[in-house]
Amino acid sequence: MSVVASSARRDRLASASCVVIKIGSSLLVDAATGRLNRDWLASVTDELARMRARGQQVLVVSSGAIALGRRYLGLGRDQRRLEEHQAAAAAGQILLAHAWQDLLEARGQKIAQVLLTLDDTENRRRYLNARNTLTTLLRLGVIPVINENDTVATQEIRYGDNDRLGARVAEMISADCLVLLSDVDGLYDADPSRQAGARLIPEVTRLTPEIEALAGASSTEFGSGGMVTKLVAARICMNAGCSTVIASGRRLHPLAAIEDDGPCTWFLPTRSPRAARKQWIAGSLVPRGTLQIDAGAASALKAGRSLLAVGVRAVEGEFQRGDPVLVCGPGGTCLAHGLVAYGSDEARLAIGQRSEALEALLGYRGPDEMIHRDNLALLVSPEPDA
Ligand code: GLU
Repeated sequence: MSVVASSARRDRLASASCVVIKIGSSLLVDAATGRLNRDWLASVTDELARMRARGQQVLVVSSGAIALGRRYLGLGRDQRRLEEHQAAAAAGQILLAHAWQDLLEARGQKIAQVLLTLDDTENRRRYLNARNTLTTLLRLGVIPVINENDTVATQEIRYGDNDRLGARVAEMISADCLVLLSDVDGLYDADPSRQAGARLIPEVTRLTPEIEALAGASSTEFGSGGMVTKLVAARICMNAGCSTVIASGRRLHPLAAIEDDGPCTWFLPTRSPRAARKQWIAGSLVPRGTLQIDAGAASALKAGRSLLAVGVRAVEGEFQRGDPVLVCGPGGTCLAHGLVAYGSDEARLAIGQRSEALEALLGYRGPDEMIHRDNLALLVSPEPDA
C-alpha cells in the first residue's frame, strides 16, 4: 500500500467528528465465566476518553446485557425463551451501565444510558425525539451508551443485533464513522478458517453481490451478529454517507490499532453524511402536508437558516411531529422539504407566532424552530446570507 493511502487510512478514525462504536458481547463478556472483561473495557474507556479529549463526539452501542444477565440470574443453557432473554436483559443492563459509568467517570467522562427499540428509528415522530436526545447529550459532552431495549423488544419488533442498531444510530445523528468491534479482523475474500490463503479486504467502496456473498452466516456464542449483519450495517451507513470499519477487539486498545493501520476493513461512502441526509429528506419521503411561508422566512431558508413559526402563513394537510412536509413560498414555489417539529394541529396554533410565545400557546416548551435547518432540504439554490 502506498504511503499516501496508508496515511489516509490512519487518519479516517482520528479525523471523524462523530463516531459510533459498537462493541460485541463476545468482547465484553468472558465466554468461560460469563463475567465482564473489565481490563479490556478499561482499555477501551481510555481510548474513548482520548477521543473526547481531541474533540470527537463519541457514542457507544454496547451489547452484553443478555450475556451478563444470564449469568447473574443463573439461567441455564436450556432457558432461552423470549421472556428469559428479556429478564436477563433487564438484570444485565444495570451491570453493563454500571461498568461503563465507573470506568468512564474515573476518566472524567459523563455517560447517559439510551435504550432504543426498532420503532425509535423507524417511526418518524419517535425518530425525531431520539435524535434530539442524542444530539443534546453530545452537545453536553456526554457519551451516550446505547443498547436495544431488549426487555420490551419481541421478535417482530426488534433489531435483534446491535450492528444494525449501531448503523441506525449513526444514520440518525449523521455520524461520519461507525466502528464495529467484534472477534473478526474484517471481511476476507474467502473463509479464513477453511482457506489458509484467505486475504483481508482493506477497503470496500461498493457493496456488490460478490462482496455480499463473502459474508457467510457466522455467529459467536454470545452475540447475535455475524458478517451478514455487519454488511447490512455497512450498507445503511454507506447510504447515509458514513464510513464503517470492521475490526477485531481481541486486543487491548483496539481503536488505537485501527489508527495504527492494523488489520480491518473500511467501507467508504461516496458522499458526506450531510448530503446523504438532505437527499433522504428530499428524495425518499412522501410529504404529508404543506407549510406556506412568507417572503422573510423564504429568504432565511435560502440563507441556510431554520424555519420559525413566525414566518408560517398557512398549514395544509394532517401530519404528526417528525413527518415530512413541503415548504412553499409566497408565489407558491416549493422551496424545501423538511421534517416538521410540530404536528398539524399545533402547527396551526403556532402560525405567525414568535418562538417565545409558543410555550404559552401549546402548554409546554417545544422546539424553537418549526423545522430545524438540519431537517430541511432546499429545492432551490441557496443564497448567500445578506
Ligand atoms: N442487545 C443484546 C445485549 O445487550 C445484544 C445484541 C447483539 O449481540 O448484537 O445483550
